[in-house]
Amino acid sequence: MKTVIEGIGFDNVTMDEAVKACLSMVKKGGYVVTANPEIVWLCRKDKPLKKIINNADLVVADGIGIIYASKILGKPLKERIPGIDLAETVMAKLAESHGSVFLLGAKPGVAELAAENLTGRYPGLRISGTADGYFKDTAPIIQKILDTGPELLAVGLGAPKQEIWMAENREKLKPCLMMGLGGSLDGYAGIAKRAPSRWQKLNLEWLYRLIKQPSRIKRMIKLPAFILTVMIRRLMGRNACEID
Ligand code: UDP
Repeated sequence: MKTVIEGIGFDNVTMDEAVKACLSMVKKGGYVVTANPEIVWLCRKDKPLKKIINNADLVVADGIGIIYASKILGKPLKERIPGIDLAETVMAKLAESHGSVFLLGAKPGVAELAAENLTGRYPGLRISGTADGYFKDTAPIIQKILDTGPELLAVGLGAPKQEIWMAENREKLKPCLMMGLGGSLDGYAGIAKRAPSRWQKLNLEWLYRLIKQPSRIKRMIKLPAFILTVMIRRLMGRNACEID
């Protein structure tokens, strides 16, 4: 059963359970959304996007704001599942059976750097191909992915572009598991530095990213509004927690 937060259904899973769910989609196909408060907030006024998120095969809570919201609603989600960690764990598992991944997204050259780092860390992992995220025509990209037949397609086009892209191309790319990963390719490439583990443990990764990239304030400003809305709904005792 889904835990519904502001109309978005989240799978209440641990990291291990999420990894298993992802691996079960390999060869069958499907897409994974790693949702943060920002995208949930966007969905309030964007019904088609909301449908895309709710149609995903797995929706995990990437963002401490989602965990807080679930607690406020009295339906605590088991844990935060950062997309960057989830995808890396899936890749580590795929590496054990020489599985392959296609890295799609980020600026030119970034996916290649990410590929080098990931194969360095997981020698069994095969990179079936890479492409940057600033393409105009989708058809050649789809063909390239199909020709190289990866088990996992890591889609780092930023939200909500990547979610829309995965939903639109789901049928064509059916054999592979797709994961929407935001800026994770920049992380794998070592271009965007991850918060030190102490900050991560204190759930302050968002603050670290804000300090490193102050322009994110425009995006993060929505977080207090999101939490406040969830609080008001709880106080009013309204069941605004349906998927519609
Ligand atoms: N990006 C892309 N194509 C686009 C727009 C963005 O490939 O048309 C990439 C961008 O280069 C970056 C990622 O999408 O690698 C978005 O990163 P951001 O940190 O904003 O995402 P978040 O992790 O916050 O969702």
